[in-house]
Amino acid sequence: MNRFFRSYRVRIAVAVLVGVSIYFLLFAVESAFHLRASLVANHLFTSATIGALLFFLFEEVLVSFRVRQLKILNTIVDALQRISAGDLSVQLPETGAGELKHISKLTNQIVGNLKDDISKLEKLERVRSEFLANVSHELRTPIFSIQGFIETLIDGAMDDPKVNRDFLQKAYEHSERLNALLNDLIEISRIESGEMRMSFRYFNISEFVGSVAEEMRPKAEKKSLRLIARSGTEEVLVLGDRERLRQVLSNLIDNSIKYTDGGGDIEVGFTELPESVRVYVKDNGSGIGKEHLERIFERFYRVDKDRSRSVGGTGLGLAIVKHIIEAHNGKIEVNSELGKGSEFSFLLKK
Ligand code: ADP
Repeated sequence: MNRFFRSYRVRIAVAVLVGVSIYFLLFAVESAFHLRASLVANHLFTSATIGALLFFLFEEVLVSFRVRQLKILNTIVDALQRISAGDLSVQLPETGAGELKHISKLTNQIVGNLKDDISKLEKLERVRSEFLANVSHELRTPIFSIQGFIETLIDGAMDDPKVNRDFLQKAYEHSERLNALLNDLIEISRIESGEMRMSFRYFNISEFVGSVAEEMRPKAEKKSLRLIARSGTEEVLVLGDRERLRQVLSNLIDNSIKYTDGGGDIEVGFTELPESVRVYVKDNGSGIGKEHLERIFERFYRVDKDRSRSVGGTGLGLAIVKHIIEAHNGKIEVNSELGKGSEFSFLLKK
């Protein structure tokens, strides 16, 4: 506005100056050529007319400029009112003088950002309700089974020595599944809420791989699987949260045990790279079809639901593994071929 006013004054001054100059020019011409003195009055009249015309012309230009700016301002105010009422379809034309154009641009940017935020929130909400639906479904299955077995026992099966122990055993197995599911749920919500703190330290990966393999060996042998640890004896230091990585490695070995038929092989080990170490778990089990590979790290995603449930899977193991590896700034990789086997691996910094 200030700039506008200043230029307005300059224009009046220019108009007066031009008028006065024309007057003096005509006056000089008249004196030089000894023209009639009566023309002086006409010169004055001409210069005054030109000055006034210029003044009115400038004023006209200024008024139309002001009207245009006012129109743009009204459009902006109107748009802001619509935005504050929740209408995000507003798109302002980015025209007008300096500041107004800038305001229109910023308003469009704010609307764009708001749209992005809202679609992110909607996606989060969808994921949250999907997760809740999955959780309720997963909890319902073992609870119903436990209820069913207990009900049958109460209704008389308790006195039937042929089935009572079996029913009790089954009810117990389902309660174990419920327990595993709750533990995984607590774990995943702790990770996702950021409650789980990582504690990074250097540790010896060869000793670590060997010790996790020893822990898992009884479970593998129970299913007649060969668990081979390629850990070596040389000390190789890596940076990470040892306890969390123990959870990752046992989970991957546990999956290999679950999805490899008796007589198969599981190999766990690491290979050294210039600046990192690649830890892997390999099996010659069922393998995973290509179409599933992208999704197996999603919560509750299973290739074969019945198989997973029958081996005590919760569908959350790989989601937890992925979170932990990502907290180490790493990425969990999988190579798998249906019917041939799978290899899961991740990198740790040396
Ligand atoms: P689950 O508790 O069902 O094992 P996970 O999140 O650990 O859940 O794994 C997701 C799915 O990925 C499993 O249900 C299974 O179909 C597949 N999967 C994981 N590891 C292996 C493996 N080593 N071999 C074959 N399939 C696997």
